[in-house]
Amino acid sequence: EETRRESLMVATAYAAKFFQDSLWETADGQNIGLSYYKERAFTPETIRKFELGYSPDQWEAFSAKAIKEGYKEEFLTEAGLSVKRDNGSLYDRYRGRVMFPIHSITGRVIAFGGRTLKSDKSVPKYVNSPESDIYHKSNVLYGLYFAKKAIRDEDNCYLVEGYADVISVHQAGIENVVASSGTSLTVEQIRLIGRLTKNITILYDGDAAGIKASLRGLDLILEEGLNVKVVLFPDGNDPDSYVRQLGSSAFKKYIDENKKDFILFKTNALLKDAANDPIKRAGVIREVVESIAKIPDSIKASVFIKECSMLMQIDERALLTELNKMRMAKA
Ligand code: ATP
Ligand code: MN
Ligand code: MN
Ligand code: MN
Repeated sequence: EETRRESLMVATAYAAKFFQDSLWETADGQNIGLSYYKERAFTPETIRKFELGYSPDQWEAFSAKAIKEGYKEEFLTEAGLSVKRDNGSLYDRYRGRVMFPIHSITGRVIAFGGRTLKSDKSVPKYVNSPESDIYHKSNVLYGLYFAKKAIRDEDNCYLVEGYADVISVHQAGIENVVASSGTSLTVEQIRLIGRLTKNITILYDGDAAGIKASLRGLDLILEEGLNVKVVLFPDGNDPDSYVRQLGSSAFKKYIDENKKDFILFKTNALLKDAANDPIKRAGVIREVVESIAKIPDSIKASVFIKECSMLMQIDERALLTELNKMRMAKA
């Protein structure tokens, strides 16, 4: 079993090297792949550090070479690098894509995200590795290997949505950043962060989907007993696009000035649709208290109840009664 996992990792490492060579050392890699990264303002140092690559726009370039060099078909297909045709031959899963290797916490490549260069909506923007014995996506955070030291040092972890967000924010000098790429945030991912820090700051995309994912994420984080703050970006921006627009120092300033604790974030997000309708406002308050009820530490919870009472100008005792009801219902 261990030797099987090792074989999968060796094949995956070989693929990472192949995609990097194809980026730096082929004409297409330079003209297409490197120019793409340049357009995204990724520096050569960043491209090297994250081991970014390019998959040739051919059907069998990788698979044929790997087989010729003795890699077993079984491992190439299980690792999701090659796909088997009905006639038994192999073709490449990743073709003409810029390649983002996904590292384990110890820095070994265990999977890939491949981004298309076409704006054609009929092709998926990202193709990710399938689940395998070395890649369980719900247990992996993109960028964690590069971020773990900074997460400990800063005692905070920034959580973003995508590969490019991790890379751009890291390049801007904020190295304590990871993404739950390719899946919505899981309990396992929160526990991985929880071993390094108890503080998470969500930096999701500034669109309706990002706000929805932030609301869901913050409840999960609270349930795990961690502290959570949220930064909202202007609509249509994600951390990657916004750091490119503002530059690193203005971006850092934006984050510091727009960091909101979860109550303020959730209240603002929900109140948008409630306006001054008292019944809707009551619904918002109840939903905020529902989040507070997820906090295992009851002293912390009561501090947040106080904040909520001040923010919404509601009697603190009424909120506490509601909180206790919710807790009883859960128990
Ligand atoms: P880019 O800036 O390159 O356009 P993004 O990271 O901003 O990419 P989003 O659409 O915001 O892209 O998606 C966030 C993340 O969700 C991606 O980085 C990727 O991990 C994952 N994702 C997006 N689209 C797909 C898809 N079609 N299949 C699988 N995963 C996807
Ligand atoms: Mn998005
Ligand atoms: Mn983006
Ligand atoms: Mn995005």
